[in-house]
Amino acid sequence: MNQAVAINVNDAITESPLYNLQETSEEQVNALFAACRSAHQDLRKYTVAERCHEVHKVLDYVLQNRDHIAARICEETGKTLTDAVVSEILGVLDNLEWNIDNAPKILKDQTVHTPITLMGKKSRVYHESLGTVLVIAPWNYPFHIAMTFMMSAFIAGNSVVFKPSELTPMQGLLEEILEASPLIRNSVKVVYGTGVTAQRLVAARPDKIFFTGSCATGRKLLKQAADMLIPVDVELGGKDQMIVFEDVNIKRTTAGAVWGALTNAGQSCTSVERLYVHDSIYDEFVTELKAQFDALVVNAGDKGDADIGAITADFQLDIIKRHVEDARSKGATILTGGMVTGDQGKFYLPTLITDVTDDMLLASEETFGPTLPVFRFSTEKEVIETSNQSEFGLSASVWSKDLDRADRVARALVCGAVSINNVMLTEGNPALPFGGTRSSGFGRAKGAEGLLAFTRSKAILIDKQSDKLEPNWYPYTQKKFTLFQRLIDALFTKSPVKLLKLAIIGMQLESEAKKPRQ
Ligand code: ADP
Repeated sequence: MNQAVAINVNDAITESPLYNLQETSEEQVNALFAACRSAHQDLRKYTVAERCHEVHKVLDYVLQNRDHIAARICEETGKTLTDAVVSEILGVLDNLEWNIDNAPKILKDQTVHTPITLMGKKSRVYHESLGTVLVIAPWNYPFHIAMTFMMSAFIAGNSVVFKPSELTPMQGLLEEILEASPLIRNSVKVVYGTGVTAQRLVAARPDKIFFTGSCATGRKLLKQAADMLIPVDVELGGKDQMIVFEDVNIKRTTAGAVWGALTNAGQSCTSVERLYVHDSIYDEFVTELKAQFDALVVNAGDKGDADIGAITADFQLDIIKRHVEDARSKGATILTGGMVTGDQGKFYLPTLITDVTDDMLLASEETFGPTLPVFRFSTEKEVIETSNQSEFGLSASVWSKDLDRADRVARALVCGAVSINNVMLTEGNPALPFGGTRSSGFGRAKGAEGLLAFTRSKAILIDKQSDKLEPNWYPYTQKKFTLFQRLIDALFTKSPVKLLKLAIIGMQLESEAKKPRQ
Protein backbone atom coordinates (compact mmCIF):
# COMPACT_ATOMS: atom_id res chain seq x y z
CA MET A 1 0.00 0.00 0.00
CA ASN A 2 1.15 3.53 -0.72
CA GLN A 3 1.71 4.87 2.79
CA ALA A 4 1.67 8.71 3.01
CA VAL A 5 4.94 9.99 4.50
CA ALA A 6 4.43 12.27 7.49
CA ILE A 7 6.36 15.52 7.79
CA ASN A 8 7.33 15.84 11.44
CA VAL A 9 7.47 19.38 12.76
CA ASN A 10 9.47 19.76 15.96
CA ASP A 11 10.37 22.47 18.44
CA ALA A 12 13.50 24.07 16.98
CA ILE A 13 15.49 23.77 20.20
CA THR A 14 14.17 20.82 22.21
CA GLU A 15 13.19 18.81 19.12
CA SER A 16 10.05 17.69 20.94
CA PRO A 17 7.37 16.86 18.33
CA LEU A 18 4.81 19.60 17.71
CA TYR A 19 2.61 18.06 14.98
CA ASN A 20 2.73 16.08 11.76
CA LEU A 21 1.78 17.16 8.25
CA GLN A 22 1.24 15.30 5.00
CA GLU A 23 2.23 16.23 1.48
CA THR A 24 -0.61 17.84 -0.48
CA SER A 25 -1.85 15.42 -3.14
CA GLU A 26 -2.21 16.23 -6.83
CA GLU A 27 -6.01 16.09 -6.47
CA GLN A 28 -5.90 18.50 -3.53
CA VAL A 29 -3.60 20.82 -5.46
CA ASN A 30 -5.94 20.82 -8.45
CA ALA A 31 -8.98 21.49 -6.28
CA LEU A 32 -7.14 24.30 -4.56
CA PHE A 33 -6.13 25.96 -7.81
CA ALA A 34 -9.71 25.68 -9.09
CA ALA A 35 -10.91 27.45 -5.92
CA CYS A 36 -8.21 30.10 -6.26
CA ARG A 37 -9.00 30.76 -9.91
CA SER A 38 -12.64 31.25 -9.01
CA ALA A 39 -11.62 33.52 -6.10
CA HIS A 40 -9.57 35.57 -8.54
CA GLN A 41 -12.63 36.19 -10.70
CA ASP A 42 -14.48 37.32 -7.60
CA LEU A 43 -11.62 39.64 -6.60
CA ARG A 44 -11.95 41.55 -9.86
CA LYS A 45 -15.13 43.12 -8.44
CA TYR A 46 -13.15 44.93 -5.75
CA THR A 47 -11.14 48.12 -6.10
CA VAL A 48 -7.57 48.39 -4.86
CA ALA A 49 -8.80 50.62 -2.03
CA GLU A 50 -11.32 47.98 -0.99
CA ARG A 51 -8.63 45.28 -0.98
CA CYS A 52 -6.37 47.55 1.08
CA HIS A 53 -9.22 47.97 3.54
CA GLU A 54 -9.29 44.17 3.96
CA VAL A 55 -5.52 44.06 4.48
CA HIS A 56 -5.95 46.64 7.22
CA LYS A 57 -8.02 44.10 9.13
CA VAL A 58 -5.12 41.65 8.88
CA LEU A 59 -2.67 44.33 10.01
CA ASP A 60 -4.85 45.05 13.07
CA TYR A 61 -5.03 41.35 13.90
CA VAL A 62 -1.25 40.98 13.72
CA LEU A 63 -0.79 44.06 15.89
CA GLN A 64 -3.16 42.79 18.56
CA ASN A 65 -1.94 39.20 18.54
CA ARG A 66 1.76 39.78 18.22
CA ASP A 67 2.77 38.00 21.43
CA HIS A 68 1.10 34.80 20.37
CA ILE A 69 2.47 35.13 16.80
CA ALA A 70 5.98 35.71 18.13
CA ALA A 71 5.70 32.62 20.34
CA ARG A 72 4.80 30.46 17.32
CA ILE A 73 7.68 31.91 15.29
CA CYS A 74 10.16 31.29 18.12
CA GLU A 75 8.93 27.74 18.73
CA GLU A 76 9.63 26.59 15.18
CA THR A 77 12.71 28.71 14.39
CA GLY A 78 14.51 29.03 17.74
CA LYS A 79 14.91 32.78 17.19
CA THR A 80 15.36 35.22 20.02
CA LEU A 81 12.16 37.03 20.96
CA THR A 82 13.55 40.35 19.72
CA ASP A 83 14.45 38.88 16.32
CA ALA A 84 10.89 37.52 16.04
CA VAL A 85 9.17 40.74 17.09
CA VAL A 86 11.37 43.31 15.37
CA SER A 87 12.53 41.66 12.14
CA GLU A 88 9.44 39.59 11.51
CA ILE A 89 6.41 41.25 13.08
CA LEU A 90 7.39 44.94 12.94
CA GLY A 91 8.67 44.34 9.41
CA VAL A 92 5.29 42.93 8.39
CA LEU A 93 3.31 45.75 10.03
CA ASP A 94 5.48 48.36 8.28
CA ASN A 95 5.18 46.63 4.96
CA LEU A 96 1.41 46.20 5.11
CA GLU A 97 0.93 49.81 6.14
CA TRP A 98 3.10 51.03 3.27
CA ASN A 99 1.17 48.91 0.80
CA ILE A 100 -2.17 50.12 2.13
CA ASP A 101 -1.06 53.75 1.88
CA ASN A 102 0.59 53.51 -1.52
CA ALA A 103 -1.00 50.73 -3.56
CA PRO A 104 -4.03 52.76 -4.74
CA LYS A 105 -1.66 55.30 -6.29
CA ILE A 106 0.82 52.77 -7.73
CA LEU A 107 -1.80 50.45 -9.19
CA LYS A 108 -4.16 53.06 -10.57
CA ASP A 109 -4.68 53.37 -14.32
CA GLN A 110 -2.01 55.58 -15.83
CA THR A 111 -2.34 58.01 -18.69
CA VAL A 112 0.89 58.20 -20.66
CA HIS A 113 2.15 60.56 -23.33
CA THR A 114 0.85 60.14 -26.86
CA PRO A 115 3.23 61.40 -29.58
CA ILE A 116 2.36 64.02 -32.14
CA THR A 117 2.20 61.40 -34.90
CA LEU A 118 -0.78 59.89 -33.04
CA MET A 119 -2.52 63.22 -32.49
CA GLY A 120 -6.10 63.01 -31.26
CA LYS A 121 -5.62 59.68 -29.53
CA LYS A 122 -5.12 58.80 -25.84
CA SER A 123 -2.79 56.23 -24.28
CA ARG A 124 -3.20 54.42 -20.98
CA VAL A 125 -1.63 51.62 -18.97
CA TYR A 126 -3.74 49.35 -16.76
CA HIS A 127 -1.97 47.35 -14.06
CA GLU A 128 -3.98 44.17 -14.04
CA SER A 129 -3.73 41.24 -11.68
CA LEU A 130 -1.97 38.12 -12.93
CA GLY A 131 -4.46 35.53 -11.72
CA THR A 132 -3.39 32.91 -9.17
CA VAL A 133 0.20 33.30 -8.05
CA LEU A 134 2.33 30.78 -6.18
CA VAL A 135 4.63 31.91 -3.36
CA ILE A 136 7.23 29.43 -2.09
CA ALA A 137 9.05 30.42 1.09
CA PRO A 138 12.10 29.35 3.12
CA TRP A 139 12.46 28.83 6.86
CA ASN A 140 14.55 31.82 7.95
CA TYR A 141 11.82 34.50 8.06
CA PRO A 142 8.71 32.32 7.89
CA PHE A 143 6.33 35.07 9.00
CA HIS A 144 7.76 38.10 7.24
CA ILE A 145 8.15 36.47 3.84
CA ALA A 146 4.73 34.82 4.06
CA MET A 147 2.80 37.91 5.02
CA THR A 148 4.52 40.46 2.79
CA PHE A 149 4.28 38.34 -0.37
CA MET A 150 0.73 37.13 0.30
CA MET A 151 -0.65 40.57 1.08
CA SER A 152 1.12 42.41 -1.77
CA ALA A 153 -0.13 39.78 -4.22
CA PHE A 154 -3.66 40.12 -2.86
CA ILE A 155 -3.65 43.92 -2.96
CA ALA A 156 -2.63 43.71 -6.62
CA GLY A 157 -5.77 41.62 -7.18
CA ASN A 158 -4.40 38.08 -7.27
CA SER A 159 -5.49 34.98 -5.49
CA VAL A 160 -2.53 33.29 -3.83
CA VAL A 161 -1.27 29.81 -3.08
CA PHE A 162 1.38 30.01 -0.38
CA LYS A 163 3.72 27.15 0.51
CA PRO A 164 5.80 27.62 3.64
CA SER A 165 9.00 25.69 4.27
CA GLU A 166 8.37 22.22 5.69
CA LEU A 167 10.81 23.16 8.48
CA THR A 168 8.75 26.09 9.77
CA PRO A 169 5.17 25.71 8.54
CA MET A 170 3.60 27.20 11.70
CA GLN A 171 0.51 25.15 10.91
CA GLY A 172 -2.73 27.09 11.17
CA LEU A 173 -1.15 30.41 12.18
CA LEU A 174 -1.39 32.15 8.82
CA GLU A 175 -4.91 30.81 8.27
CA GLU A 176 -5.94 32.16 11.69
CA ILE A 177 -4.57 35.61 10.78
CA LEU A 178 -6.20 35.64 7.34
CA GLU A 179 -9.57 34.94 9.00
CA ALA A 180 -9.53 38.62 9.95
CA SER A 181 -10.89 39.21 6.43
CA PRO A 182 -13.25 36.63 4.88
CA LEU A 183 -12.37 38.00 1.42
CA ILE A 184 -8.67 37.38 2.03
CA ARG A 185 -9.30 34.00 3.63
CA ASN A 186 -11.18 33.01 0.47
CA SER A 187 -8.45 34.25 -1.89
CA VAL A 188 -5.23 33.28 -0.12
CA LYS A 189 -4.56 29.59 0.59
CA VAL A 190 -1.78 28.01 2.61
CA VAL A 191 -0.53 24.61 1.41
CA TYR A 192 1.83 22.35 3.31
CA GLY A 193 4.47 19.96 2.09
CA THR A 194 8.03 19.56 0.92
CA GLY A 195 9.53 19.96 -2.55
CA VAL A 196 7.21 17.15 -3.67
CA THR A 197 4.21 19.36 -3.00
CA ALA A 198 6.04 22.38 -4.46
CA GLN A 199 6.51 20.53 -7.74
CA ARG A 200 2.82 19.64 -7.81
CA LEU A 201 1.94 23.28 -7.26
CA VAL A 202 4.17 24.37 -10.13
CA ALA A 203 2.62 21.71 -12.36
CA ALA A 204 -0.78 23.31 -11.71
CA ARG A 205 0.45 26.26 -13.79
CA PRO A 206 0.23 29.28 -11.49
CA ASP A 207 0.31 32.58 -13.39
CA LYS A 208 3.59 33.54 -11.73
CA ILE A 209 5.87 32.08 -9.07
CA PHE A 210 7.70 34.00 -6.35
CA PHE A 211 10.43 31.85 -4.86
CA THR A 212 12.75 32.57 -1.95
CA GLY A 213 15.22 29.85 -1.07
CA SER A 214 18.48 28.20 -2.04
CA CYS A 215 20.23 28.47 -5.40
CA ALA A 216 20.04 24.72 -5.98
CA THR A 217 16.28 24.56 -5.45
CA GLY A 218 15.76 27.80 -7.38
CA ARG A 219 17.46 26.24 -10.42
CA LYS A 220 15.25 23.12 -10.19
CA LEU A 221 12.16 25.27 -9.97
CA LEU A 222 13.20 27.44 -12.93
CA LYS A 223 13.71 24.33 -15.04
CA GLN A 224 10.26 22.99 -14.23
CA ALA A 225 8.63 26.39 -14.79
CA ALA A 226 10.46 26.93 -18.08
CA ASP A 227 8.66 24.04 -19.74
CA MET A 228 5.35 25.73 -19.06
CA LEU A 229 6.67 29.28 -19.64
CA ILE A 230 5.63 30.34 -16.14
CA PRO A 231 7.37 33.57 -15.11
CA VAL A 232 9.38 33.26 -11.89
CA ASP A 233 10.99 35.82 -9.57
CA VAL A 234 13.74 34.26 -7.48
CA GLU A 235 15.59 35.45 -4.38
CA LEU A 236 18.41 33.02 -3.76
CA GLY A 237 20.74 34.23 -1.05
CA GLY A 238 23.86 36.30 -0.77
CA LYS A 239 27.39 36.85 0.46
CA ASP A 240 26.96 40.49 1.38
CA GLN A 241 29.95 42.73 1.84
CA MET A 242 30.35 45.54 4.37
CA ILE A 243 33.02 48.06 3.42
CA VAL A 244 34.48 50.27 6.15
CA PHE A 245 36.70 53.26 5.31
CA GLU A 246 39.19 54.88 7.67
CA ASP A 247 37.05 57.89 8.66
CA VAL A 248 34.25 56.09 10.50
CA ASN A 249 33.14 56.22 14.11
CA ILE A 250 34.55 52.93 15.34
CA LYS A 251 32.01 52.30 18.15
CA ARG A 252 28.99 52.75 15.88
CA THR A 253 30.46 50.95 12.89
CA THR A 254 31.62 47.89 14.84
CA ALA A 255 28.19 47.70 16.52
CA GLY A 256 26.62 47.80 13.04
CA ALA A 257 28.92 45.06 11.80
CA VAL A 258 28.17 42.81 14.78
CA TRP A 259 24.41 43.18 14.36
CA GLY A 260 24.56 42.92 10.57
CA ALA A 261 26.53 39.68 10.75
CA LEU A 262 24.64 38.10 13.62
CA THR A 263 21.00 39.17 13.54
CA ASN A 264 18.75 36.13 13.28
CA ALA A 265 21.94 34.17 14.11
CA GLY A 266 23.23 35.10 10.67
CA GLN A 267 20.37 33.27 8.95
CA SER A 268 19.47 36.18 6.68
CA CYS A 269 20.12 36.41 2.97
CA THR A 270 21.43 39.92 3.59
CA SER A 271 23.63 39.17 6.62
CA VAL A 272 27.09 40.67 6.49
CA GLU A 273 29.16 37.69 5.33
CA ARG A 274 32.33 39.60 4.35
CA LEU A 275 33.67 42.57 6.28
CA TYR A 276 36.33 44.71 4.56
CA VAL A 277 38.10 47.13 6.90
CA HIS A 278 40.58 49.80 5.85
CA ASP A 279 44.14 48.91 6.76
CA SER A 280 44.70 52.01 8.89
CA ILE A 281 41.93 51.15 11.40
CA TYR A 282 41.93 47.37 11.01
CA ASP A 283 43.60 46.44 14.32
CA GLU A 284 41.53 48.78 16.46
CA PHE A 285 38.36 47.69 14.61
CA VAL A 286 38.99 43.98 15.10
CA THR A 287 39.83 44.43 18.81
CA GLU A 288 36.55 46.27 19.33
CA LEU A 289 34.63 43.64 17.32
CA LYS A 290 36.02 40.87 19.48
CA ALA A 291 35.02 42.64 22.68
CA GLN A 292 31.48 43.04 21.37
CA PHE A 293 31.27 39.43 20.14
CA ASP A 294 32.35 38.16 23.55
CA ALA A 295 29.65 40.19 25.31
CA LEU A 296 26.74 38.71 23.32
CA VAL A 297 24.08 36.60 25.02
CA VAL A 298 23.37 33.36 23.16
CA ASN A 299 19.99 31.93 24.12
CA ALA A 300 16.41 31.49 22.99
CA GLY A 301 13.09 31.01 24.74
CA ASP A 302 14.07 34.37 26.24
CA LYS A 303 12.07 37.38 27.39
CA GLY A 304 13.60 39.76 24.90
CA ASP A 305 17.03 39.80 26.52
CA ALA A 306 18.99 37.31 24.37
CA ASP A 307 21.00 38.45 21.36
CA ILE A 308 21.69 35.32 19.35
CA GLY A 309 19.16 32.54 18.85
CA ALA A 310 19.41 28.99 17.55
CA ILE A 311 20.29 27.62 14.15
CA THR A 312 16.90 26.53 12.84
CA ALA A 313 17.95 23.75 10.46
CA ASP A 314 20.37 20.95 11.38
CA PHE A 315 21.71 20.87 7.82
CA GLN A 316 22.52 24.58 8.13
CA LEU A 317 24.45 23.95 11.33
CA ASP A 318 26.48 21.36 9.41
CA ILE A 319 27.29 23.95 6.71
CA ILE A 320 28.40 26.49 9.31
CA LYS A 321 30.63 23.91 11.04
CA ARG A 322 32.08 22.83 7.69
CA HIS A 323 32.89 26.42 6.66
CA VAL A 324 34.57 27.22 9.96
CA GLU A 325 36.54 23.96 10.09
CA ASP A 326 37.64 24.45 6.49
CA ALA A 327 38.91 27.94 7.34
CA ARG A 328 40.61 26.72 10.51
CA SER A 329 42.35 23.90 8.66
CA LYS A 330 43.60 26.29 5.97
CA GLY A 331 45.16 28.69 8.46
CA ALA A 332 42.46 31.22 9.40
CA THR A 333 42.49 32.68 12.90
CA ILE A 334 39.31 32.10 14.92
CA LEU A 335 39.41 35.07 17.28
CA THR A 336 36.34 33.97 19.18
CA GLY A 337 33.61 31.33 18.85
CA GLY A 338 34.07 28.56 16.31
CA MET A 339 31.94 25.93 18.05
CA VAL A 340 28.48 24.67 18.81
CA THR A 341 27.08 25.59 22.21
CA GLY A 342 24.06 24.86 24.42
CA ASP A 343 22.77 21.56 25.86
CA GLN A 344 20.74 20.71 22.79
CA GLY A 345 23.56 21.56 20.41
CA LYS A 346 21.34 24.00 18.51
CA PHE A 347 23.38 27.16 18.94
CA TYR A 348 26.59 28.22 17.30
CA LEU A 349 28.81 30.70 19.09
CA PRO A 350 29.26 34.10 17.40
CA THR A 351 32.46 33.53 15.46
CA LEU A 352 34.93 36.21 14.43
CA ILE A 353 37.55 35.11 11.93
CA THR A 354 40.60 36.79 10.40
CA ASP A 355 43.32 35.67 7.97
CA VAL A 356 40.64 34.34 5.65
CA THR A 357 41.92 33.58 2.15
CA ASP A 358 40.11 33.18 -1.15
CA ASP A 359 40.45 29.40 -1.16
CA MET A 360 38.32 29.07 1.98
CA LEU A 361 34.59 28.26 1.73
CA LEU A 362 33.94 31.09 4.19
CA ALA A 363 35.22 33.59 1.64
CA SER A 364 32.96 32.62 -1.23
CA GLU A 365 30.04 30.38 -0.24
CA GLU A 366 27.00 31.50 1.71
CA THR A 367 27.52 30.42 5.34
CA PHE A 368 24.14 31.59 6.72
CA GLY A 369 25.35 31.49 10.30
CA PRO A 370 26.73 33.69 13.10
CA THR A 371 30.16 34.02 11.53
CA LEU A 372 32.07 37.10 10.44
CA PRO A 373 35.22 36.89 8.31
CA VAL A 374 37.20 40.14 8.33
CA PHE A 375 39.43 41.24 5.45
CA ARG A 376 41.81 44.21 5.06
CA PHE A 377 41.93 46.64 2.17
CA SER A 378 43.91 49.76 1.39
CA THR A 379 42.32 51.51 -1.60
CA GLU A 380 38.80 52.22 -2.83
CA LYS A 381 39.55 50.65 -6.20
CA GLU A 382 40.92 47.49 -4.61
CA VAL A 383 37.94 46.97 -2.30
CA ILE A 384 35.45 47.50 -5.11
CA GLU A 385 37.23 44.99 -7.32
CA THR A 386 37.80 42.38 -4.62
CA SER A 387 34.40 42.57 -3.04
CA ASN A 388 32.68 42.45 -6.42
CA GLN A 389 34.35 39.12 -7.11
CA SER A 390 31.51 37.09 -5.73
CA GLU A 391 29.08 34.72 -7.33
CA PHE A 392 26.38 36.57 -5.37
CA GLY A 393 25.14 40.14 -5.43
CA LEU A 394 22.26 40.73 -3.04
CA SER A 395 23.06 43.72 -0.83
CA ALA A 396 26.01 45.53 0.74
CA SER A 397 26.89 48.40 3.02
CA VAL A 398 29.45 51.20 2.74
CA TRP A 399 30.64 53.17 5.74
CA SER A 400 32.41 56.53 5.47
CA LYS A 401 31.97 60.18 6.51
CA ASP A 402 32.70 61.08 2.91
CA LEU A 403 29.27 60.63 1.33
CA ASP A 404 30.57 61.27 -2.18
CA ARG A 405 32.97 58.38 -1.81
CA ALA A 406 30.29 56.18 -0.27
CA ASP A 407 27.96 56.96 -3.16
CA ARG A 408 30.71 56.24 -5.69
CA VAL A 409 31.33 52.85 -4.13
CA ALA A 410 27.61 52.10 -3.83
CA ARG A 411 27.21 52.68 -7.57
CA ALA A 412 30.20 50.47 -8.36
CA LEU A 413 29.02 47.44 -6.37
CA VAL A 414 27.26 44.75 -8.37
CA CYS A 415 24.30 44.12 -6.11
CA GLY A 416 20.65 44.96 -5.58
CA ALA A 417 20.88 47.27 -2.56
CA VAL A 418 23.41 49.30 -0.60
CA SER A 419 22.98 50.82 2.86
CA ILE A 420 25.28 53.77 3.47
CA ASN A 421 26.50 54.18 7.06
CA ASN A 422 24.02 51.57 8.18
CA VAL A 423 23.50 47.88 7.66
CA MET A 424 20.66 45.79 6.17
CA LEU A 425 18.59 48.95 6.31
CA THR A 426 17.33 49.08 2.74
CA GLU A 427 15.04 46.29 3.91
CA GLY A 428 13.79 48.51 6.71
CA ASN A 429 12.09 50.81 4.23
CA PRO A 430 9.15 49.14 2.48
CA ALA A 431 9.32 51.79 -0.26
CA LEU A 432 12.65 50.37 -1.48
CA PRO A 433 12.88 47.44 -3.90
CA PHE A 434 14.46 44.19 -2.72
CA GLY A 435 16.23 41.68 -4.95
CA GLY A 436 19.57 40.59 -6.26
CA THR A 437 21.97 40.28 -9.13
CA ARG A 438 24.02 37.28 -10.33
CA SER A 439 23.31 34.08 -8.35
CA SER A 440 21.33 36.07 -5.79
CA GLY A 441 18.44 35.95 -8.24
CA PHE A 442 16.25 38.31 -10.20
CA GLY A 443 13.01 40.17 -9.81
CA ARG A 444 12.20 42.78 -7.21
CA ALA A 445 9.94 42.50 -4.18
CA LYS A 446 8.70 45.48 -2.12
CA GLY A 447 8.38 49.10 -3.12
CA ALA A 448 6.45 50.14 -6.21
CA GLU A 449 8.41 47.67 -8.36
CA GLY A 450 7.57 44.85 -5.98
CA LEU A 451 3.87 45.60 -6.13
CA LEU A 452 3.95 45.92 -9.91
CA ALA A 453 5.66 42.52 -10.06
CA PHE A 454 2.28 41.07 -9.10
CA THR A 455 0.64 42.73 -12.10
CA ARG A 456 0.73 42.59 -15.85
CA SER A 457 0.57 45.91 -17.67
CA LYS A 458 -2.06 46.25 -20.32
CA ALA A 459 -1.51 48.94 -22.94
CA ILE A 460 -4.60 50.80 -24.11
CA LEU A 461 -4.79 53.25 -27.01
CA ILE A 462 -8.05 55.07 -27.53
CA ASP A 463 -9.09 56.62 -30.84
CA LYS A 464 -12.42 58.16 -31.78
CA GLN A 465 -15.05 56.56 -34.02
CA SER A 466 -15.17 58.64 -37.22
CA ASP A 467 -14.82 58.38 -40.97
CA LYS A 468 -11.11 59.15 -40.72
CA LEU A 469 -8.68 56.68 -42.32
CA GLU A 470 -5.07 56.37 -41.17
CA PRO A 471 -2.50 57.39 -43.81
CA ASN A 472 -0.36 54.34 -43.05
CA TRP A 473 -3.28 52.02 -43.87
CA TYR A 474 -3.73 50.74 -47.44
CA PRO A 475 -3.52 51.74 -50.18
CA TYR A 476 0.20 52.50 -50.17
CA THR A 477 0.85 55.14 -52.86
CA GLN A 478 3.94 56.91 -54.07
CA LYS A 479 2.45 60.23 -52.97
CA LYS A 480 1.96 58.98 -49.43
CA PHE A 481 5.41 57.41 -49.47
CA THR A 482 7.01 60.75 -50.36
CA LEU A 483 4.99 62.49 -47.64
CA PHE A 484 6.12 59.90 -45.09
CA GLN A 485 9.75 60.54 -46.07
CA ARG A 486 9.18 64.27 -45.49
CA LEU A 487 7.39 63.50 -42.21
CA ILE A 488 10.42 61.57 -40.91
CA ASP A 489 12.75 64.46 -41.83
CA ALA A 490 10.41 66.96 -40.14
CA LEU A 491 10.02 64.84 -37.00
CA PHE A 492 13.74 64.64 -36.38
CA THR A 493 14.73 68.15 -37.47
CA LYS A 494 15.86 70.81 -35.02
CA SER A 495 14.11 73.46 -37.11
CA PRO A 496 12.20 76.16 -35.18
CA VAL A 497 9.30 75.66 -37.60
CA LYS A 498 9.17 71.92 -36.92
CA LEU A 499 5.58 72.00 -35.62
CA LEU A 500 4.38 73.99 -38.59
CA LYS A 501 6.07 71.57 -41.00
CA LEU A 502 4.53 68.60 -39.21
CA ALA A 503 1.08 70.18 -39.27
CA ILE A 504 1.28 70.79 -43.03
CA ILE A 505 2.57 67.29 -43.82
CA GLY A 506 -0.01 65.81 -41.43
CA MET A 507 -2.85 67.57 -43.25
CA GLN A 508 -1.51 66.45 -46.63
CA LEU A 509 -1.26 62.86 -45.42
CA GLU A 510 -4.82 62.99 -44.05
CA SER A 511 -6.11 64.24 -47.33
CA GLU A 512 -4.21 61.51 -49.23
CA ALA A 513 -5.62 58.89 -46.83
CA LYS A 514 -9.14 59.79 -47.93
CA LYS A 515 -8.42 59.02 -51.58
CA PRO A 516 -9.40 55.58 -52.85
CA ARG A 517 -6.92 53.45 -54.79
CA GLN A 518 -6.59 54.90 -58.30
P1 ADP B 1 16.02 26.84 2.29
O1 ADP B 1 17.00 25.90 2.85
O2 ADP B 1 16.50 28.24 2.14
O3 ADP B 1 14.63 26.74 2.88
P2 ADP B 1 15.20 25.44 -0.08
O4 ADP B 1 15.52 25.98 -1.39
O5 ADP B 1 15.56 24.04 0.23
O6 ADP B 1 15.93 26.45 0.82
O7 ADP B 1 13.67 25.60 0.24
C1 ADP B 1 12.91 26.75 -0.04
C2 ADP B 1 11.50 26.35 -0.36
O8 ADP B 1 11.50 25.63 -1.59
C3 ADP B 1 10.85 25.44 0.66
O9 ADP B 1 9.51 25.85 0.84
C4 ADP B 1 10.92 24.08 -0.02
O10 ADP B 1 9.90 23.18 0.38
C5 ADP B 1 10.71 24.49 -1.46
N1 ADP B 1 11.16 23.48 -2.45
C6 ADP B 1 11.90 22.38 -2.27
N2 ADP B 1 12.09 21.73 -3.45
C7 ADP B 1 11.46 22.45 -4.39
C8 ADP B 1 11.30 22.33 -5.81
N3 ADP B 1 11.81 21.31 -6.49
N4 ADP B 1 10.59 23.28 -6.45
C9 ADP B 1 10.08 24.32 -5.78
N5 ADP B 1 10.21 24.51 -4.46
C10 ADP B 1 10.88 23.59 -3.76
